[in-house]
Amino acid sequence: MNLHERLTEALGRDAVKTQPEDLAVYAFDAYSQAAPPNAVVLPSSTQDVAAAVKISNACGEPVVPRGAGTGLCGGAVPAKGGVVISFARMNRLLALDVRNKRAHVQPGLINLELSEQIRSSGLFYAPDPSSQKVSTIGGNCATNAGGPHCLSYGTTVNHILGLEIVDERGEIFTTSLDDIGYDLTGTLVGSEGTLGIICAIDVRLMKLPESVRVWLAAFGDVEAASETVSAIIGAGIVPTALEIMDDVIVGAVEAAYGAGYPTDAGAVLLIEQAGFADDMDERESAIREIAHEHGAISWRAAKTQAECDLLWAGRKGAAGATGRYAPNYYIQDVCVPRSKLPTALHSVTQSARRHGLKVGNVFHAGDGNLHPLLMYDKRDRQQVAAVIGAGNEILQTCVDLGGTISGEHGIGYEKRDTLSLVFSTDDLATMAKMRDVFDPRRVLNPEKIFPAGVGCAEVKPPDAAYVISNR
Ligand SMILES: Cc1cc2nc3c(=O)[nH]c(=O)nc-3n(C[C@H](O)[C@H](O)[C@H](O)COP(=O)(O)OP(=O)(O)OC[C@H]3O[C@@H](n4cnc5c(N)ncnc54)[C@H](O)[C@@H]3O)c2cc1C
Repeated sequence: MNLHERLTEALGRDAVKTQPEDLAVYAFDAYSQAAPPNAVVLPSSTQDVAAAVKISNACGEPVVPRGAGTGLCGGAVPAKGGVVISFARMNRLLALDVRNKRAHVQPGLINLELSEQIRSSGLFYAPDPSSQKVSTIGGNCATNAGGPHCLSYGTTVNHILGLEIVDERGEIFTTSLDDIGYDLTGTLVGSEGTLGIICAIDVRLMKLPESVRVWLAAFGDVEAASETVSAIIGAGIVPTALEIMDDVIVGAVEAAYGAGYPTDAGAVLLIEQAGFADDMDERESAIREIAHEHGAISWRAAKTQAECDLLWAGRKGAAGATGRYAPNYYIQDVCVPRSKLPTALHSVTQSARRHGLKVGNVFHAGDGNLHPLLMYDKRDRQQVAAVIGAGNEILQTCVDLGGTISGEHGIGYEKRDTLSLVFSTDDLATMAKMRDVFDPRRVLNPEKIFPAGVGCAEVKPPDAAYVISNR
């Protein structure tokens, strides 16, 4: 029997896709297009996943796990054909333990749906990537997703208590934070499908806060807004979220959502504080004073839940809203020390200007995590070249400022050749050794994360055209 017949026999006809028009869909994620896989399976259980891996092994096919495909670095698209394992059907909340504030979920459960399903119990799941209406908890685990509220709650890794994994041989094992010895849970979170396939997840839940306030400060420019963020945290205040949008992004967001952001300001700072109701007025006046000291031209407090929701809907929908400016955007994901944000943003503007591109900035300012959106039309080769040039300059500048090449979107194959900007050959060889412990034959999501040749310690220098080169 061939690959298709064996997968169909094991998982059932409706769980296996083999038609070219079906496979073509899985050649895309939110970043890139690659070659389609040779087959796609939609397992219903961990046993199905294990069977699919064993059959893929026997047929010499690599496997690529896939959540919702919202990844921004090409992680979920097959680099070498093979079998895509989609978790679209393993999408349920399996158990809720209110007393111990934890839940057992399948990897295909959509992030926001978890919090919606458990709301009546007074709990929520804190990691909230802006894609949370669509992206899956499994994909979030595999990328160690961040999000606006990770400033105070931490990233996905801080909320994962244990995992059920199918390994490269198709064997099932579990990890738990309670285990003594090495922290395998922490190792697997963020491994982008290269160390194991996540088939179930124990997540930590948090108590819904007594009170949540949302404030909006407007500034003349994005640098002043960034200085304010440094000053707030420098004063020992850590709000739940500190998000900046510049005037380009605000223009798009207002046209799309009418969220009430001021369109005459150079930048806005969205501040959220969760906590006890009695503390809120004092907290607001402390933050407001800092904002005014740093040039805030207006201050607004959202008065109703509907107002808070609308401001957040605008922020979380910002990337999509830029479709009003250009058919395509490339979103860079870089980090700098918070105090270097104004310098980094100035340099983003200069790079975009040099390359004749429109750029908008929307970012997790509290974490020093920049997301410049370079807008372009991918049918125009000159514009594509300009985005590659500007994207690379921004990346290098942030590294030079003491930052790093990814804040939260991961490496995938987009940035695998740039890993050597921040790690030495020895560092990479050590990481590759670790990968070899889990996946010595490189059958799990091959060609991701590591620069070509790193397995034999021949690390390539960064490729001049690494950004969006595969779009
Ligand atoms: C508009 C927009 C906003 C975004 N905002 C944020 C943000 O605020 N913060 C942030 O961190 N990211 C953000 N992202 C990026 C993306 O949503 C995240 O990386 C998300 O975690 C990917 O989840 P997914 O389910 O779509 O996974 P996919 O894109 O399907 O997969 C991502 C990676 O995880 C692996 N994977 C998926 N499922 C499994 C599994 N079960 N086992 C093992 N490996 C698996 C894949 O192989 C791939 O390498 C945004 C993306 C978009 C388009």
